[in-house]
Amino acid sequence: MALHGKSLYDRGLTPGSSRNIGVRLPDGMLITPTNSCLGRLDPESISRLDSAGNLLSGKPPSKELFLHRACYDTRERETAVVHLHSTWPVAVSCLAEVDAENVLPASTAYYVMRVRRLPLIPYFAPGDRNLAATVASASWAAKGVLLANHGLVIGGADLDKAVYAAEELEETAKLHMILRSLPTKFLTPDQQAELHRLFPS
Ligand code: ZN
Repeated sequence: MALHGKSLYDRGLTPGSSRNIGVRLPDGMLITPTNSCLGRLDPESISRLDSAGNLLSGKPPSKELFLHRACYDTRERETAVVHLHSTWPVAVSCLAEVDAENVLPASTAYYVMRVRRLPLIPYFAPGDRNLAATVASASWAAKGVLLANHGLVIGGADLDKAVYAAEELEETAKLHMILRSLPTKFLTPDQQAELHRLFPS
């Protein structure tokens, strides 16, 4: 987790101390601590919690722990979650006119393979527990979600895959903003269906 945290931090994807990554364990979970910098993460400080959410070791967990639990509760195969407030996905999350069922059109094959579909979750104030319920209801059918005026939440079968998916989402959001005012050819439904067939999740 510390290596992935530093890598995300070094590339400017984790400004400040708000964002978090975590891993599900057979008997609980790991998550980055509250008010921690991912670029200087002490492995000893990583919060380890039991399956009831009690802190077993490390510093107090991120206040956005509930986002991770919402993903784990609805997506049994996923064992890692990445939540970032990175610039390009947040920019997309602030757009006025988007398809809330799938915010980013399929501009590349790798986006389709790693993210597939990205629902937009309405805005909630930080700490509003209704956000967890809303994320949970959307997560069962999507690997990731975009939180309006906030950031991305995406899961993976392990932390490597969750980070790769977050990176793909970051680049696709950037492409979307660059191409937004230009005539653009996106992958067709047939091309996307072929990818789903060739690379089932
Ligand atoms: Zn957040």
